[in-house]
Amino acid sequence: MNIILLLALICIVPLCLVYHARYRAQHKQYLRVNHCFDAAFYNFPGAVCIIKLGDDTSGDIIVDGNRALEQLMGWSRDEMADSTVDSHHAWHNQEQRRDFLTQLREKGEILRFPAEMLDRDKTLHYLYLTAKVFDLEGEPHFIVLFGDRSVQRKTEERARMEGLRYRALYEGMIDGYCRCNKNGYFIESNRAFREPLGYTEEELWRLTPRDITPTRQHAEDARIEQELRERGSCKLYEKEQIRKDGSTFPVELQLYVSLDDQGEFDGWWAIIRDLSKTKRDQANLDFLAYHDPTTGLPNRTLLQDRLEHALERARRDQQQLALLFIDLDRFKHVNDTLGYHVGDALLQVVARSMGALLRDSDTLARLSGDEFMILLEENATTANVTMVADRILAMFAKPQILQDQEIYITASIGVSIFPQDGDSVDILMKYAELAMFKAKDQGRNIYQFFESGLSVGALERLALENGLRSVVSRGELVLHYQPQINLLTGHLIGVEALVRWQNPGLGLVMPDRFIHIAEDIGIISDIGAWVLQEACRQMAAWQKKGLHVPRIAVNLSVQQLERTDLVSLVQRQLEVSGLKPQQLELEVTESMLMRQTGRALEILNALESMGVYLAVDDFGTGYSSFGYLKRLPVHRLKIDYSFIRDIGQDANDEAITRAIIALSDSLGLEVVAEGVEREEQETFLRREGCHLVQGFRYDKGLPAKDLLSKYMKVVT
Ligand code: C2E
Ligand code: CA
Ligand code: CA
Repeated sequence: MNIILLLALICIVPLCLVYHARYRAQHKQYLRVNHCFDAAFYNFPGAVCIIKLGDDTSGDIIVDGNRALEQLMGWSRDEMADSTVDSHHAWHNQEQRRDFLTQLREKGEILRFPAEMLDRDKTLHYLYLTAKVFDLEGEPHFIVLFGDRSVQRKTEERARMEGLRYRALYEGMIDGYCRCNKNGYFIESNRAFREPLGYTEEELWRLTPRDITPTRQHAEDARIEQELRERGSCKLYEKEQIRKDGSTFPVELQLYVSLDDQGEFDGWWAIIRDLSKTKRDQANLDFLAYHDPTTGLPNRTLLQDRLEHALERARRDQQQLALLFIDLDRFKHVNDTLGYHVGDALLQVVARSMGALLRDSDTLARLSGDEFMILLEENATTANVTMVADRILAMFAKPQILQDQEIYITASIGVSIFPQDGDSVDILMKYAELAMFKAKDQGRNIYQFFESGLSVGALERLALENGLRSVVSRGELVLHYQPQINLLTGHLIGVEALVRWQNPGLGLVMPDRFIHIAEDIGIISDIGAWVLQEACRQMAAWQKKGLHVPRIAVNLSVQQLERTDLVSLVQRQLEVSGLKPQQLELEVTESMLMRQTGRALEILNALESMGVYLAVDDFGTGYSSFGYLKRLPVHRLKIDYSFIRDIGQDANDEAITRAIIALSDSLGLEVVAEGVEREEQETFLRREGCHLVQGFRYDKGLPAKDLLSKYMKVVT
């Protein structure tokens, strides 16, 4: 037994000794390794921490942390060991903490989790946490490696700020901006892009450019996308876009490729300009360039263009064309008496009524003022043209109904025909106008076909008419002054201002050649206003220089007398020049007075009560009655030149002159004889008791300075 025990001991003891020796060696190694790991763990340059995963009540417990972690967070290894993570209040953001732990529990590991943590001094650190769960002694632990994210964060922050700035920048842009990812979906857009489309930013995220492009443009878009990928950008091009409501509008856009960090295609971005307003403006401009804004009718330019084409067709098809030049008679009178708005309304009504008489193939245009033109392209036979002209005159025979009034106005029409009258736009238009002048000359309210005999005088009239329109603004008018003399004293009793037109091509044009045209085209009031102003100014100037001219006579046209503002015009000129009203005489012809109604009489009365002198010009030609004359507020009669001319040769004219002198005597009016050229006329007038004269025997109309030099000498 003992031996057995001994043998056992002999066997076991060495075994134990061997085992012990081995155990010791192993333990030493274990300790050494452990120590080694511990030292490595502690000295590892990155911050590391081992945490035992706890439950909701116990919380996570820190097992160990290394030196780098001590330095990073400020707690010592001992302070950290066995403490709960929560006791350090290291997580800045509890949501982050929950996220981190959830992910860790679910996946077992986390790579570069961005976290913001507070150290012992509550300084915020931007970190990446990399963590992995492992089992230690049957219990779940995790190891966390802390990486510095501050540099990265600055870059991120800068990018974020840049993003914001960039967004602010493109949001505020006038042009539209959008960006698509490589799958073609809109990912960015600004207001200027979204608003015309009618989509919100979120709605656009679900769309691609194809969704807002009409199908017919898809092929073209594909071609452009190809070009874009090859070249990085594409040329500015125009296309249509579809709004949310289904309507389309034009845009102009330029596309650019966007690349990712690796330089790979990442989608594209575009600058888009909404062209609808530009196109609208352009369309308006185009319309205005070719239409008259008052009536909406084609203007001269468009008519000329159409006529040009019509001529080409007519030449080819050997057809006849007709042009009707329609000019309203005395339209200026409507403007002057009823105002421009009534004038415009009348033009619109007349334009509509004429348009209603025409066929679609005809063109009605407004050339200017009260001038219209009709181009008859189809079936322009003489019979047909006559029918159209008749219809137009019949239309004018009825009153034009304006909103609250009826206006009667007539028109004169001139017609030219291709090919018989001419074969160019200019000639046909000119001849239609000349024919219209002839219609006017023949008493208005008729139509007249062009006849070649008409051209010479009418051409001159056309030239005068064109020049006259700007005669005042170009300063081409001058006044000459014809002295009026008292035969008894030989003194200058006044001058008559006579207008002349200093025409650059024609020289000095006398009023008989242009006054009636100025009346016809409605610009006589402008000329008259200038004459009045210039005459008053000249009188004041003579006065200043020491020449006393007792009175200046200014001729008035009928249209001036019909205007209510004549009284204020005269008043203003007297004020401006400082003349006394008695120094101004206004001459109105007898025929003009005979045509007048109550209103002209009111104006004459107003002028007379201001103290202005009034004379009846060309007296003897107008058949005025004694009774009528008595009611007129006039001071003086001027015997017409035609009676004076034949004194000594025609007993009738002498009798009339004698009668006029007697008449003025009985009415208590002064009488002036004009056109006195010869001695026998003067002798006759002296004898009959007419001592106030004017005529070539004494002076022609003189320029102001000649009158000054001549009469200053007489006075001194
Ligand atoms: P009027 O008012 O009868 O003017 C007189 C015209 O007879 C003037 O012609 C004058 O030069 C001319 N005359 C004067 N003495 C003689 C003479 O001894 N013998 C001849 N043969 N003629 C003489 P003028 O300047 O050519 O004016 C023609 C007409 O033009 C004027 O006739 C007047 O009706 C009109 N006129 C002239 N100036 C103006 C104006 O400022 N406004 C308007 N509305 N009409 C004007
Ligand atoms: Ca006169
Ligand atoms: Ca006269």
